[in-house]
Amino acid sequence: MWFYVLLFNLQFMERIYLDYSATTPVAPEVKEAMEPYFSEHFGNPGSIHSWGQKAQAALDHSREIIADELNVKFSEVVFTGSATEANNLVVRGVAAGSKGIDKPRIIVSAIEHPSVLETARALTADGVEMVCIGVNKEGFVDLQALKNSLNERTVLVSIIYASNEIGTIQPIQEIAKIIGDFRKQIANSKGQSTGDSRLAISSLPLLHTDIVQAFQFFKMDLQELGVDAFSVSGHKIYGPKGVGVLVLRNEWEPYLGRTITGGHQELGLRAGTENVPAIVGLGKAVELVSHDREEEAKRIGSLRDYFWEKLKRALPEIELNGSPGNRLPNNLNICFPNKESGDLLIKLDQAGVAVSAGSACSAKAPKPSHVITALGMGEKRARQSLRFTLGRPTTKEEIDIALGRIVKLLN
Ligand code: PLP
Repeated sequence: MWFYVLLFNLQFMERIYLDYSATTPVAPEVKEAMEPYFSEHFGNPGSIHSWGQKAQAALDHSREIIADELNVKFSEVVFTGSATEANNLVVRGVAAGSKGIDKPRIIVSAIEHPSVLETARALTADGVEMVCIGVNKEGFVDLQALKNSLNERTVLVSIIYASNEIGTIQPIQEIAKIIGDFRKQIANSKGQSTGDSRLAISSLPLLHTDIVQAFQFFKMDLQELGVDAFSVSGHKIYGPKGVGVLVLRNEWEPYLGRTITGGHQELGLRAGTENVPAIVGLGKAVELVSHDREEEAKRIGSLRDYFWEKLKRALPEIELNGSPGNRLPNNLNICFPNKESGDLLIKLDQAGVAVSAGSACSAKAPKPSHVITALGMGEKRARQSLRFTLGRPTTKEEIDIALGRIVKLLN
C-alpha cells in the first residue's frame, strides 16, 4: 500500500533535480544541431565520397569551435567516447610511451576522479610507480609534497582542476609553474638548452588537468594555464553522453603510446569511427557554454550561497566539505552529522529531491568516498555527506521547495 501512496505522491509532486555534476539534460539547441547527423548526413567521416565529406566537415566545425574556445590548435583536439576515455588515453598513453624509463613515475592527487586514480593504480602492475599527493582539509593539493615528489623518472602529473565531489578548485597555474621550474632544472642539470621550444615542452613530466566540471564556469586557456593536456566531457555541459575530448599539445603526440589501436582516426590516438552526431552536439554545447559562462556562474553561485545560508540557519549542525571560498559555483557538499548518507539520499528522493552521495561513477560502490576520506576527517564523515549540485535549469523557486523538504525531513 505504502508503495502506491509513494508512487501517487511522486507523480504529482514537483521533482527537483540537484545532481547536475552527475549529468545535465541535453540543451534543445544541441539536440537540434545533432538531429540531421543520425539519418540524413549519416556518412562515415573517413569515407572519400560526398557523404563522408559532409560528416568530416561537421567534425571539423566542432573541432574548430573547441580549439578556439580552449586556445589550442585544431590538431590538438582529440575526440573520445567520454572523459573517462580521455583520462585513460593520457595516463595509459604516457605510461606506454615511457618504456625506456625504469619505473616511470605518475603523480596524481588523492582526490582525482576514478578514471585517473584507478587507471594510475592499475598501471602499477606493469611497473609504473604511482605517487598520490594528499590534500588539506579543504581539499587543496599539498604543493610542497608535489615539489618533493618530482624526480627525473616522473612522466606525468595529473591534477583535477576542480573536484567533482567537493568542488575545491586547485591553483593549476601555480602547479604549472612548479612543473615548468622542475623541467628547467632538469634541462640545466643535463646541460641542455631550454631555448628549443620542442625540447622545453617535450621534457618530462607532462602536466594534465581534468577540467570536466570546471569548464562550464571558468574560461579555460591551455596556453595561459601552462598545462599540456585537458579532458572534457559532453554530458556535464548540456551536451550528449558518450562523447569527450582529450586536448593534447602537438609536441607530445609522438611520445604518447597508442592504447587504442585500429584505424588512423583522431591522430591515430583514438582509433574507431567518430560519433558524429555526439561530436556535433558537443561543439554546440561548447558554443552555448561560452556564450553566457560568466553570467551563469554568477547566477548559480548566488543561488548556491542562498541555499547554503538558509540550510545552515535551519540546521546549524551541518558542515560544509571542501573550500568555502574557492569552489565550483554550483557545488555544496554537506555533512549531516549522525545521518547516514545512503539512507538520507533515498528519503530525499522519495521527497522529490535528487542529490548524490559522491560521484555518480562511484555511487554504487560500497566504500565511502575517497575524496571526503582524503580530507582527513574520518570515514564516518564520508558516510554522512551528500552532494547538491545546481545547474542551468535551477531556479530560486526550486531551491525554496528543496529547502522546505530537506528541513522537514531532517527535523
Ligand atoms: N572527470 C570528472 C571530474 C567527472 O566528474 C567525470 C564524470 O563524473 C568524469 C571525469 C568522467 O566523465 P564521463 O562520464 O564522460 O566518462
